[in-house]
Amino acid sequence: MFAKVIVDIAHAAVDRAFTYRIPEGLDVRPGQHVLLPFGQGDHVKEGFVLSVSEESGLEDGVTVKDILSCVEPYTVLLPDQIALAEWMQEAYHCLLVDALRLMIPAQLRGSRIHEKRERIVYLTDPAADFVSKSHIQTEVVTLLKQTGQPMAVTDIKAFLPGAAPAIAALLKKRVLSESSFTVFRRPEYGSRREDVPELTAEQAAALREVDALSPGQTALLYGVTGSGKTEVYLRCIEACLQQGKGAIVLVPEIALTPQTVGRFAARFGDRIAVLHSRLSAGERFDEWRRIRLGKAPIVIGARSAVFAPVEDLGLVIIDEEHESSYQSEITPRYHALDIARRRVKASGGKLLLGSATPSLLSYYRALSGSYKLIELRHRVGGRPLPTVSVADMRAEFLSGNNGIFSSLLLSKLEACLKQGHQAMLFLNRRGYSTFVSCRGCGYVLTCDNCDIAMTYHKAQNAVRCHYCGARKPLPAVCPNCGKPFIKYFGIGTEQVEEQIQKCFPGTATVRMDADTVAHRDAYEQILSAFGRGEAQILIGTQMIAKGHDFPNVTLVGVIAADTTLNFPDYRSGERTFQLLTQVSGRAGRDKDPGEVVMQTYVPDHPVLRFARVQDYPGFYQYEIAQRKKCLYPPFSLFIRLLLSGENEESLIERGKEYARALEADLRQALGAEGQGDLLLLLAAPAPIARIAGLSRYQILVKLLRTKRLPQALHAVYDFETSHREDGFLKIEINPQDMF
Ligand code: ADP
Ligand code: ZN
Repeated sequence: MFAKVIVDIAHAAVDRAFTYRIPEGLDVRPGQHVLLPFGQGDHVKEGFVLSVSEESGLEDGVTVKDILSCVEPYTVLLPDQIALAEWMQEAYHCLLVDALRLMIPAQLRGSRIHEKRERIVYLTDPAADFVSKSHIQTEVVTLLKQTGQPMAVTDIKAFLPGAAPAIAALLKKRVLSESSFTVFRRPEYGSRREDVPELTAEQAAALREVDALSPGQTALLYGVTGSGKTEVYLRCIEACLQQGKGAIVLVPEIALTPQTVGRFAARFGDRIAVLHSRLSAGERFDEWRRIRLGKAPIVIGARSAVFAPVEDLGLVIIDEEHESSYQSEITPRYHALDIARRRVKASGGKLLLGSATPSLLSYYRALSGSYKLIELRHRVGGRPLPTVSVADMRAEFLSGNNGIFSSLLLSKLEACLKQGHQAMLFLNRRGYSTFVSCRGCGYVLTCDNCDIAMTYHKAQNAVRCHYCGARKPLPAVCPNCGKPFIKYFGIGTEQVEEQIQKCFPGTATVRMDADTVAHRDAYEQILSAFGRGEAQILIGTQMIAKGHDFPNVTLVGVIAADTTLNFPDYRSGERTFQLLTQVSGRAGRDKDPGEVVMQTYVPDHPVLRFARVQDYPGFYQYEIAQRKKCLYPPFSLFIRLLLSGENEESLIERGKEYARALEADLRQALGAEGQGDLLLLLAAPAPIARIAGLSRYQILVKLLRTKRLPQALHAVYDFETSHREDGFLKIEINPQDMF
């Protein structure tokens, strides 16, 4: 027998199947992780078996080496995972081995982590009498007799400190016998008990619609915040388990809190496995093995959990499907949604996408019939949506208020605090940094390495560059005009906190931003402290509090609704709508109705008008018309090619050359009737023209979405392959940022 094997080396030169002989007596199947001699020196390398056949397929006389051994007794890759990786290699133009590596825990490779075994001992003959001069040996035997069953050695040592030598002696005398079993290291999360609620009529209807989906079909569950999407997920999973199939649930990394996981654990107990970045190496390895060995048919995890080795995959759920974190920013640059679609098509399962603010693309697909649209239009229990009022900051300014808070927000805050309720104040992280400038001459303090305004940090009275980390003290006078009018602008969370203390002295506040959640657990700690009522006001950037329920929060303030809206990106309307909806969904999750105050300088902006009444379909119609007018995605696709170099002049020279070559390749790939598909090819210095001392140049391509798109993408990928040289940074299809 022969095996086609891919060697676990990430290099284009060896990224293909090599043929090996399977020695007599070795059971090798596709998906097996094996050791093999490789290259001139026959160095022992790891590899993955792609297929097995009786013929080598090689010409006579070609020497074929033998596989040495299997690393695990089970196959580490499922047949459909191998097929998926092969598809990814084509679709994302990546190494096969890089795709395969996404499907197994890193700890498995190189055997860096081993399974943990627990030693147990038991009385060889429970009926036999035991006499010994050793006091501790007698105690060990007595303990085992009392317990009447085998005990873990660690447990005995906990009862009888210093029992280790006695246990060893007893084993030697064969009074005790031993064996061992595998223990799975498991992450901890609270499993809060929750009664299984009776479904609302809408939920029940949604469940029936999911049930009626055909194999491989995708549905979009559009449900307003608080409409009970999670309960629908839980029931769908239950149905899936009843058919003996497995399920994968994806949530954004940030939402993978013990609270979220606890909800699933309460329903499904040990049948769930969790995969996220905060697991220890041992936990990650063991959770993966519990999935692979069929002990956990339900997987909950972030983006990469879409690759989990669930056999007979009946259902994939992607919660908050609009989140950008489902797009991988590193090679292979896959989108979890595309992988999930592929997987359910192969397994005959179903894909359920859920959101209160679906991505434009998903809703577009739902309306055009390629996804089934399922709706939850009402909140559970008839809880009203929060009332949203708008504070017109222009009017505030004209009436002499140039503070951070509008009088409306102040009065609502006061009422909220008086009633002993909690409030959340949101600031936008992006584009709202506190830059430093001179009121006299307008000079803006920028980083020496990067073309970016530096951000003021009050705690250190210093300015910092968020792109390269450079830092310097706040100058006392303007470096440009020498006048002492240097001043920082914009609002940071610290400043909001400071103003709260001025307006409501003694109020307990907590702050959540990149500074306060520097280490991993801080995020969780701050939120649970807030949940326990240890602070009345939570101040944070937009990402806070996903997946958390704070029943006592009745007021949400959006300090500056415009900052995302004015961001120079075609998605800013979509992002603003998503952000405002998610944020208002935080208010009034319990019996008390919620209130939201949005502060803005453009109260009549259509996006804000739709966000105010949580009218997603209305917003969609408005936004899709804008996109169509400008031929933005989903009607087109952006591709960005990024170059960088020390010498600006030669970089620009090279950039222009690249642009010409790429355009020629694209035009050829598009063919005669496709010339109009190339809507834009713009070669220019990147918006951030310099980072960390290196100049940056970009070529931005906008392609009409037609049936010729795959050809065009191939041309782009081929271009990338043939230009992997100095200064060529990357090609991004559908870049998340345009910097
Ligand atoms: P969404 O994810 O759509 O924002 P959730 O699933 O978090 O909404 O549900 C909102 C709240 O309603 C939760 O507290 C949940 O426990 C509760 N809930 C969901 N379904 C029901 C139901 N059928 N009956 C009673 N309470 C429910
Ligand atoms: Zn910098």
